[in-house]
Amino acid sequence: MNHSLIDAWRSDFPILQSRIHDRTLVYLDNAATTQKPSAVIQAINDYYSTTNANVHRGVYSLGQQATDLFENTREAVRKFIGATSTSEIIFTKSATESINLVASSYGEVHFSAGDEIILTMMEHHANIIPWQEISKKKGCTIKVVPIQQDGTLDIEAYKNLFTSKTKFVSMVWVSNAIGVENPISDFIRIAHDHNVPILIDASQRIQHANIDVQKEDCDFLVFSGHKVYGPSGTGILYGKEHLLEYLPPYQSGGDMIKKVTFEKTTFADLPSKFEAGTPNIEGFIGLGAALQYLQSIGLDEIAKHESMLMNFAIEALRSLDFISILGYNGTNVSAISFVMDTVHPHDIASILDKKGICVRAGHHCAHPLMQFYKVPSTTRISFAMYSTVDEIEVCIKELKEIYTLFS
Ligand code: PMP
Repeated sequence: MNHSLIDAWRSDFPILQSRIHDRTLVYLDNAATTQKPSAVIQAINDYYSTTNANVHRGVYSLGQQATDLFENTREAVRKFIGATSTSEIIFTKSATESINLVASSYGEVHFSAGDEIILTMMEHHANIIPWQEISKKKGCTIKVVPIQQDGTLDIEAYKNLFTSKTKFVSMVWVSNAIGVENPISDFIRIAHDHNVPILIDASQRIQHANIDVQKEDCDFLVFSGHKVYGPSGTGILYGKEHLLEYLPPYQSGGDMIKKVTFEKTTFADLPSKFEAGTPNIEGFIGLGAALQYLQSIGLDEIAKHESMLMNFAIEALRSLDFISILGYNGTNVSAISFVMDTVHPHDIASILDKKGICVRAGHHCAHPLMQFYKVPSTTRISFAMYSTVDEIEVCIKELKEIYTLFS
């Protein structure tokens, strides 16, 4: 990859110039959150400096400008994921809230006692607990697609989980814990063969390669803005219009109504029906700037660079006989989880921190997957568009030193 191109990308992210413990920052926790380019920081700053007003309310021009900026992001998201209409793009505060919305509202009208919901063994807790909660309320059962040692979901077992009681499938596209990318086209086709809708958690996919919800035929798709170089507190729920249309609101209050009396309320049309209260205006304006920034670079370019990083890191880690990589099947996208003989992941992460290197140690909000691998936690390194081979080399050198120190 062209070094000057990556240097140019890096110069768009002010935080990468920071020093931590007097070392150059090496940020390898991008699956937790991505850093923000100047375009995003500037868009938020500009909004507060020049355009701040509440949205969807003011007849005055400042309010209209704020509304236009905010709604421009809805159109940017629509284009980014290939949705048909902006009515299908619901603004939430996070991927977590988007999944809660679907589990609660879809479950409320469509689930009843004895129904079954299919999840997979590699889900983030955000895609487990909302389904457990609605299951408790409605008397549903959760079934789980098993996983193989290399992180591949067992698609034959998945086919066999369907019964006449299956009402919903919800699954992750790319695992945050091990980085495996699931063949969602196959999973979606199989769900649809059984007339069952499916939600795709794209939180770890949206930032790494192009997405086309129509081509994939996703019924619902969710992600968080902060993982795609945008601000925290922004989330997206995409849903097919005919499915969203019949769901009850998730929350209620201002900005989501047509008419209110003390006897009765009629709700606004999509997408407002699901957006009660003053939203994270500056956050969504920032998210629009992030998507525009990514499109100016091209996700294909980013995917090429990240794939090179992944191959380099896997080879380097595999050459270390004291490291075991968990869940690598060759599809992995920008995240590698591993354990080191004799050294606890938290010790690794704390020592790396002293060298200015940020990595994640823990269960990655994926307890069931950790139980499958019989480990309490792992160390995870995860890349973004601005990550470099040099950063991976620095990290690997320090890992060798940590192992020597502990043995
Ligand atoms: N799903 C996956 C795969 C994730 O990686 C995450 C965040 N780690 C979430 C859901 C939840 O995202 P958020 O905390 O931004 O709501």
